[in-house]
Amino acid sequence: MAWVETSRRPQRWKGKPLCSWLLHAAGLGLWLWAGCGGTAMDSGDGGSRSDGGATTSDMATTINTGSFPTTLPQVQPTQGAISQPHIVPIFFPNNTLRTQLTSYVQNYVARSASYAVMAEYGVTSTTVGTAVQLATSPPVSVTDDDIQALIAARVGDGTFPAANGRTIYVLFYPQGTTINRPNAKSCVDFGAYHGWTKVGGQDAPYAVIPQCSSTSQPGTLPALTVATSHEITEAVTDPIGVSLYEMNDPYSLWFAPFSGNEVADMCEWLSDTAVTEVGIGTSARIWSNAAMRNKKNPCLPVPAAAPSFFAIPFLPDLRTVQINSSLRQTELVTLMGSTPRTIEVRLSSDSPIPPMITVDAQEIPIATLSTPSPAKVLALTWQEAPAATRVTAVAGSTVHLQLSASSAPLSGYTTFRVYATITLPGGAKTQTMWAGQVNVR
Ligand SMILES: [Zn+2]
Repeated sequence: MAWVETSRRPQRWKGKPLCSWLLHAAGLGLWLWAGCGGTAMDSGDGGSRSDGGATTSDMATTINTGSFPTTLPQVQPTQGAISQPHIVPIFFPNNTLRTQLTSYVQNYVARSASYAVMAEYGVTSTTVGTAVQLATSPPVSVTDDDIQALIAARVGDGTFPAANGRTIYVLFYPQGTTINRPNAKSCVDFGAYHGWTKVGGQDAPYAVIPQCSSTSQPGTLPALTVATSHEITEAVTDPIGVSLYEMNDPYSLWFAPFSGNEVADMCEWLSDTAVTEVGIGTSARIWSNAAMRNKKNPCLPVPAAAPSFFAIPFLPDLRTVQINSSLRQTELVTLMGSTPRTIEVRLSSDSPIPPMITVDAQEIPIATLSTPSPAKVLALTWQEAPAATRVTAVAGSTVHLQLSASSAPLSGYTTFRVYATITLPGGAKTQTMWAGQVNVR
């Protein structure tokens, strides 16, 4: 199961006639809708609510021919990553995984093909500080405010190195500690997160890694290292929530079907979301803008012997929506009531022998404040396999996805993911994914 991971950034989406906005509630790991006239729960993380009206327009997309859209999805930098991050692992007493986790962090930043993606985002060198062992016993329960206070206090007394904007504090909590965020508990609602605070006037990014199973279980260390690599790469590329976290147009709504658009979030929902490297351990696969620009599998590293392959839904409409203070052109499928609509899903691969690609589509409803787990409203069926939930066809062909809505979602919007799966020599499966948005009118 992929963990929903959270960072501390509210983001709001407003598109007429929605009179609603989307925000990322701290701790929930959900993008939440506040309905018309409702009281939006502000997460208190800053940012400004977007209440102005946005113009809305639909137009046919006619520029896309071939296997790929003319514009490819990219995580869009606003400010840069930390160019010379300094990672400090922090443990409570008696954490018997301390040595292994410290070695993992050292090897990960030095040699992993997952962390190597950081270079394209402007990271030139990474250092790992001496692991810190706290003197105090781990708390049974802790809040994010408590964690920020702990960082400030331990920097203050010299236990932690000083904050300087590039030092990232990675706090490993043992299994007995529950981290409580607003309406969300560690290991139940989120797996790990990264955040930021100020210490002595300096930015102090940090990551919080709960342990969700007992140390003796074989899956515990890999789960911890996947979470650690996810949060380290995101703390490096989006240290204070203003760097690599959103998509270029027309993909600005991809944060909804993903849990965010930070560089690990973008690969979190694949069946093969992690990679195990000899001598390093198990790490999250990380989104590479450069690979995507080159029409290669964007989640690195790619499994050995895997060609590039995609199943890309071509969404026919463009809509102007307001996200925070920006008007964004976003692609989507507009459904008028219950009238079905069919879109093309184009299959491609760079393999000289075109692989068979199995494609399936899954609706991901957008959570709302009043409906945290909204019902699905879409029927997603394949013209080429009407009775099946998925379709298999050869790369180079086009399959057709029919969408219809049984009712309008509360926000008017819902989203879906299209997964492409191929089988590698030896039998392992590997995936790529694309996202789509639907407006039901
Ligand atoms: Zn993330």
